[in-house]
Parts: sequence; structure tokens; C-alpha cells
Amino acid sequence: MNPNKIKPGKLLINNEWTNATSGKTFDVINPSTETVLTQVAEADKADVDIAAKAARRAFDQGPWKKMSARDRGRILMRLATLVDKHREELAELETLNNGKPISETLNADLPLTIETFEYYAGLADKIHGDTIPVSGNYLNYTLREPAGVVGQIIPWNFPLLMAAWKLGPALATGCTVVLKPAEQTPLTALRLGELIAEAGFPAGVVNIVPGFGPTAGAAVATHPLIDKIAFTGSTDVGKTVMKLASENLKRVSLELGGKAPNIVFADSDMDAAILGTMQGIFFNQGEVCCAGSRLFLEDSIHDEFLSRLKTHTEKLVLGDPLDPKTQMGAQVSKEQYDKILGFIAQGRDQGAKVVTGGSPAQPKGYFIKPTVFSEVTDTMAIAREEIFGPVVSTLKFKDVEELTARANNTIYGLSAGIWTRDIGKAHRLAREIKAGTVWINCYNCFDAASPFGGFKQSGFGRELGKHALELYTQVKSVWVSLD
Ligand code: NAP
Ligand code: MG
Repeated sequence: MNPNKIKPGKLLINNEWTNATSGKTFDVINPSTETVLTQVAEADKADVDIAAKAARRAFDQGPWKKMSARDRGRILMRLATLVDKHREELAELETLNNGKPISETLNADLPLTIETFEYYAGLADKIHGDTIPVSGNYLNYTLREPAGVVGQIIPWNFPLLMAAWKLGPALATGCTVVLKPAEQTPLTALRLGELIAEAGFPAGVVNIVPGFGPTAGAAVATHPLIDKIAFTGSTDVGKTVMKLASENLKRVSLELGGKAPNIVFADSDMDAAILGTMQGIFFNQGEVCCAGSRLFLEDSIHDEFLSRLKTHTEKLVLGDPLDPKTQMGAQVSKEQYDKILGFIAQGRDQGAKVVTGGSPAQPKGYFIKPTVFSEVTDTMAIAREEIFGPVVSTLKFKDVEELTARANNTIYGLSAGIWTRDIGKAHRLAREIKAGTVWINCYNCFDAASPFGGFKQSGFGRELGKHALELYTQVKSVWVSLD
């Protein structure tokens, strides 16, 4: 793909590509070179209104409503096949736009995106209600109906995959969608839009409105014709979206930030724990909501683990994201790059020690060296706040009781990692940790069939698996007199 020839992006409304009503566009940047890739039409309130009306019509009147669940599944499966057919092109586009390595887009983002569409294609005709043995001479049954028009607002860290997590279950259940990609990374969602039209989704079923959060995003969250909001992003914006959505009492699901404890016991397989720790924090340049950013090390192995972690971390290959050998690419934007460097400076100021990294990696592009901090205390900003970058804070612990309280001492609760050969201890701790996902002797495992989501201020609602169907359906109880 020639990065100079990426065509300008438009809005997808009613299966047609249009300019923004205002005529405005914004630049899309390649974060590894700081050059402009292309321009994309900038949706605002007026465009979201047109998109929401199109989605409403498609939900209330269009062929989508009359289509059998099995046929909806067939169209979703065609989409999965089309994404698979274009997997290399999509992986390259994602890498150019986000800065993540091509080895990751090819081996993680794309396979999981395809799997998600396949999984929900298969589920479409398996969504049904129950018959309930009520008292009296009645037949009572439930219908599981689609939630309606859904507004979906997604972030920039896994742009295509997040679109799939949102669209898969919404389309399987028969909803229609207005999707707002992140301003930094609209390109793969727009390419997906072309494949959506090609797959045969009726007009208005999927509408894509790239633009900015406070304008396009807020318009989605407030629009009276939209019934439900699904949001992934920062906890702060999640709170704003929830407030905005309360105007017409939209149902809301939120997948927000994290500050995951990754806990390594002295009785773990240290080689596996080191590789898992690195994968847990440096995967996707640390721009992962479930990143294992608080590394808890048992006292007796602390020094050895840290010295071996340093050695391995310094071997990570950082550079051109399009090079298949690259293991870490660029941070997504100047804003994110500055934010991460700000946290690193704050860590130093507050007395933590940089074991390795701690600085930009290249003069051009938003590259930051993978960074390990030691001598971190629980109250430092780098131990409490979501950095969303390749920065891990190491904390020592003595015993499980103390550890459990400290691991849970966070506003977040998205995920956790546990490394030990004592399987009883691992399961006991897994029950104590307040988080939506716990990985034992592994990290960052995902499958379209397994639910994902947060406890506490990491949000609510579960994406993926059958659980996501709850987000996009509502239950109707029907009574029939048998007299
Ligand atoms: P963000 O602002 O929360 O972005 C998420 C999505 O919400 C984007 O599409 C964004 O649009 C939109 N948005 C922003 N303000 C909005 C508003 N007032 N109403 C409706 N939608 C709105 O995240 P960010 O600014 O890109 O990143 C900031 C921090 O969020 C990161 O440093 C990280 O800590 C966290 N984050 C978490 C996740 C996650 O998966 N949980 C993902 C990304 C970021 P714009 O693109 O125009 O802002
Ligand atoms: Mg933002």
C-alpha cells in the first residue's frame, strides 16, 4: 500500500458515501512518520442527525426488520469472509494509521476481528426467549427483541477490532448502528464500511460518522432517536457519555480504563512470567485498557526478576511498524506521546527509579522506549493512574493478604494477571481480585466467545461471547389466556 495514495474518507450514511454537511475535513496522521496520510470528512451534529434518522428508518421500516435471523447471520458471515479476503490490506492500513507493528495487526487484530464477525454470524439464529411456567391458565413466553438504534463510540487503540466487537453482536441481534470511530484512527472503520456495503447489509443498517468526541460523539450520545449507547474509551469520557445519554434514558454500556495488577509469586515459572509480563505491558505499545501496568513481585524474587526483565526488555525491537521484525511501534498521537512522557517525568520526580527506558526512542515519530520503574509506592501517580503507554510500575509484596488488598486498591477493575505454580492459591486469588478478567499463568488472552468487561470504574456490561447479546436485546413478556 502506498501511504501517499490513501483516498480521502467520507461519511457512510444509508450505504452512500457523503461529505460532511459543513464540508469540513480533518487530517489523519501516520504516527510513526508524523506525516499526513489523508483527509477524512468531519461529521458533526447535523450529520449525526441524518445518520440517526437513517438508522431509525432502517430499524423501524427497512428489510432488516423483516429479514430472518439466519439471513442476518449469513450477511455477517459474508462480512467475515470479506474482511478475511482483505486481511493484509486492512492490517497495513491499521499499522499506518495507528503505529502498531504489522506483526500484531496481522496476528492479533485481524484474526480476532474475523473471529468476532464469524462468532456473531453463527449466533444470530440462536437468540431466543423462553416459555415460563406461570401460575394460572396462561401461556407466558418471552421474546428477545433487538435494543433498537445503537450509537457506538470507539477508541483508537484497536480501531478495527473495537468496531467488530461493537458491530458483531449489534447486527446479530437485529439492531441498526451509528458508529463513531476515534478521530485519530478512522481509516480501517471506513474501509470496513465499504466491505459492509459489499456484504449486502441493507441501507441504513450501519452508518459511520468519523469526527470529534465533543461534537460528533456527543451528538450520538444525546440523539433522541438512538436507544442505546455502547462506549469504549477513557473513564472520564465514559462518565460524560453516561450523563449525555441520560437525556432520553438510553441504555448504556461502558468499557473504560484500567490499572491492572500483574502478580508474580516466587513459586512461578519465572521465564514464562517474564515473557507474560512483557506481553502484558508492552503489547500494542502499552495502549491497552487491560495492560498489566502494576507489576507486583514477591519479595524474594524481586531483584532477580527485575534484572532479567530489564535484559529482555532491552532486546525488544522497536522501529518501523511496517517491518515484520518490529515488536513495538509508535504511540498513536503526539497527545498520547506527551501524556506518557509526562507520567514518566512524574514517576522520576516522585522518587521512582527508571530501570530501563524512560525516554523517546527516535527523533521522528511518536516512539517511546519500553520503560520499567522500580521503587514505586502505591500512592505514586504511576501506580494509580492509567498511563496507556509502555510503562510498568514494579511494587514489592510479602504475603497474599497484603497483596490482595493492595491489588484491589484502585478505582479500576478490568483485569489481572497471576503467576504461580500453586493452582489452589491462583484460584483463591482469582476469586478475591475485583476485575472482569483474570489471567492465570498467561496474559492478554482473548476469544470472541469469552466475555470481557469491567468491575468498578472500568465500566459495566460484558462484550464478546453470549454476554454481549444482553447489551443489544431487550426482553418482552407475552401473556396468553388459555381460557
Ligand atoms: P477518549 O476521549 O475517551 O476516546 C474514546 C472515544 O470517545 C473517541 O471516539 C472519542 O472521540 C469519544 N469522545 C471523546 N469525548 C467525547 C464526548 N464528550 N462525547 C462523546 N464521545 C466522546 O479517549 P482518548 O482521548 O482518545 O484517550 C485518552 C485516554 O483514554 C487514554 O490515555 C487512555 O487512558 C484512555 N483510553 C482507554 C481506552 C480503553 O480501551 N479503555 C481506549 C482509548 C483510550 P475523539 O476521538 O474525537 O476524542
Ligand atoms: Mg479524545
